[in-house]
Amino acid sequence: MNTQLLIVGSGPAGYTAAIYAGRAGLHPTILEGLQPGGQLTITTEVENFPGFPQGVDANELMFNMRQQAERFGAEILSETVVRTDFSQRPYRLWTDTDREYSADSVIIATGASAKYLGLADEQKYMGSGVSACATCDGFFYRKKRVAVVGGGDTACEEALYLAGLADRVFMIVRKPFLRASQIMQQRVEAQANIEVLFETNTLGLFGEGGVEGAHLVFRKGEADEKRYDLSIDGFFLAIGHKPNSEMFLPWVKVDETGYIQTEGDSPRTGLPGVFAAGDVADPHYRQAVVAAGSGAKAAIEAEKYLKSL
Ligand code: NDP
Repeated sequence: MNTQLLIVGSGPAGYTAAIYAGRAGLHPTILEGLQPGGQLTITTEVENFPGFPQGVDANELMFNMRQQAERFGAEILSETVVRTDFSQRPYRLWTDTDREYSADSVIIATGASAKYLGLADEQKYMGSGVSACATCDGFFYRKKRVAVVGGGDTACEEALYLAGLADRVFMIVRKPFLRASQIMQQRVEAQANIEVLFETNTLGLFGEGGVEGAHLVFRKGEADEKRYDLSIDGFFLAIGHKPNSEMFLPWVKVDETGYIQTEGDSPRTGLPGVFAAGDVADPHYRQAVVAAGSGAKAAIEAEKYLKSL
């Protein structure tokens, strides 16, 4: 199938790009990918997306964006891009259904996925105590006890954010030290209600209907190994994110973590007509509203590019 503009991904960046491109008469096609609606759909309520004074259900927000994109003529297909060939225009993309697409312009909005430990209990309590976004879900843990897994800058940031809401925050850190920058470490140390549990790993979670605690192990495999249960209401993962960019390699430039590198603060990838928007190109902010804004920018750039052909 040949199309002028192909948008890969269906989070706030992808849908916003489709709304703008649709209104510009570009008839975009969206390949929505494995997680229609993107990362927001794994959270519950969104309270910081402007325009919703009472907050909005995350799935409803994404459904509304989807409908808005369709209203302006976007065609949305439930397929996932697995391989690309951007060596020449039209750019070619293959999906998990073995279909081939070609397009003069492509907006990559495939997002990023939070990394999880891989425990079965993370799936079991997803949305009922397990989260990978303190800014999204921290509010639900006011005056409660929470744990943050990880010892990097993200974990420190999440712990500090949660410390302003929760009664007590535990950082579960597998090494005997934090990997985070000095300044973040100092801030964590200065925060009275954060306790760092070094050399500690999580074995599982427990609770009736929601998280009530974690099974932890201190110095696993050592002579002084100690297993114990920590009572918590929320379990936050902050062990890094993985941008979903691998299917666009080697055509676009990525940093050492895999985030697509764009020119300045534009969505241009350096490959004419190929733009990146949202979390796949954003190691810093990772917010729905920022992703939506970058989707708009990408669509405006795509329109300019297509007109120039
Ligand atoms: P990092 O990779 O820096 O840190 C990940 C942390 O999670 C490490 O402590 C790591 O432990 C731990 N971890 C990883 N896998 C596991 C596991 N399976 N079990 C237990 N712990 C695990 O990721 P971040 O997301 O924190 O940061 C990514 C980049 O973004 C960094 O360059 C960071 O500096 C930057 N950043 C900067 C910010 C700022 O400047 N304000 C804010 C946020 C991020 P270990 O140390 O043992 O590997």
